[in-house]
Amino acid sequence: MSIVSRFAPSPTGYLHVGGARTALYSWLVAQAAGGKFILRIEDTDRERSTQPAIDAILEGMQWLGLNYDEGPIYQTQRFDRYQQLIDQLLAEDKAYKCYCSVERLDKMREEQMANGQKPRYDGACRDQEAQPGKPHVIRFRNPQEGSVVFDDHVRGRIEFSNQELDDLIIARTDGTPTYNFCVVVDDWDMGITHVVRGEDHINNTPRQINIFKALGAPVPEYAHVSMILGDDGKKLSKRHGAVSVMEYRDNGYLPQALLNYLVRLGWSHGDQEVFSVDEMISLFKLSDINKAASAFNTEKLNWLNQHYMKTLPAADVAEALAWHFAQLGVDTSQGPSLETIVDMQAERVKTLKEMAEISRYFFEEVTEFDPGAAKKHLRPVAGSALSLVRDKLTALTSWNAGDIQQAIQATCEELEIGMGKVGMPLRVAVTGGGNSPSLDVTLAALPQEVATARINLALDFIKLREEQS
Ligand code: GLU
Repeated sequence: MSIVSRFAPSPTGYLHVGGARTALYSWLVAQAAGGKFILRIEDTDRERSTQPAIDAILEGMQWLGLNYDEGPIYQTQRFDRYQQLIDQLLAEDKAYKCYCSVERLDKMREEQMANGQKPRYDGACRDQEAQPGKPHVIRFRNPQEGSVVFDDHVRGRIEFSNQELDDLIIARTDGTPTYNFCVVVDDWDMGITHVVRGEDHINNTPRQINIFKALGAPVPEYAHVSMILGDDGKKLSKRHGAVSVMEYRDNGYLPQALLNYLVRLGWSHGDQEVFSVDEMISLFKLSDINKAASAFNTEKLNWLNQHYMKTLPAADVAEALAWHFAQLGVDTSQGPSLETIVDMQAERVKTLKEMAEISRYFFEEVTEFDPGAAKKHLRPVAGSALSLVRDKLTALTSWNAGDIQQAIQATCEELEIGMGKVGMPLRVAVTGGGNSPSLDVTLAALPQEVATARINLALDFIKLREEQS
């Protein structure tokens, strides 16, 4: 059997990390089998569906690299098909018109609740004569006996008694089809064999299965994935921090890291933590998804992000880094290559956003010194070391990390002082602050005249301080 899976978000907000994980699992099912993955936009709720939300979903899928073989398919463009099948079910008496008034339904619900019963439609219109011209909804004639059983890939055997299910409305008074009905028609028409979705849909599944059967359509296999929790054990939401996929991009995460993080959040393969996309595809099995809810752990995501910053080809990381510099308004067209920045800084930061923020001095003038670092390291006693190292650096005829290192070393020896006494003032002079990659590579990444000019600026600063004191 060739496998067809889908991701079917309702476009009512951004692409949530929980949705992205569902999409990933569903995508992996198809990739692993050489099958097909479809993106379907469930936009029938016109009040809540918005174009910006659709755009956010498409952008998130693209950023994560979850490419689809078909779609996006919009439910709002399929109303004719839904109508056709509603008419068919009516003609076959598998659905019926219900003329019950809202008042009657409300009263019935109140009475049922007062009696401690689960509210459900009592089937009053099941055998009603047609009443032409009278407003009505259309209900699915759910079987009244027996039960619906399915083998969930995550949760195992699940059974619902048909007595618990009432006759679901499949078309509203205005004729528009309802959610559960559209899902079934779409899954059927699109040939979906595997439905991977959130556990909040478990209760819809028996209703949908009954509709599949009534239509004579094959019932897909199901995998209902657990929720993602925040660090306090409550469902992950905005309160816990970033929840939208694109927010993770904005905060400096690589898509490879987020995918790896999400695949492990709720699925495992032994104790392996790092998975390339190819490995995920070859190792992923629906039956290995955890039943229990999983808690989001930012530290682990940070660890993975750094791992990928260090191990992916620097050119790939550099491309993502360029976006962060652009956000900061830093022009990187002059100066060291972004690959060089990645090589120097990946070890020192957890995110690309941080990497861009702490690397500005490679592309922008240093116009001021970090006050704390300057106070500590740009003191009068540092003046002689700085001017000597400046002279030696200025005199270098080839500008590379090895020669720079030697010039610094020679300064220490000549003045008989420790490395820190030269290194720290030099670092503050050249980078504006007290933290940077090792000085030889930092200086080598800057043009020689820029490095020495910055040292001169620091010497002026020291002089001014001396005069003021
Ligand atoms: N549109 C539903 C949601 O966003 C998913 C439905 C499904 O996967 O069957 O929760």
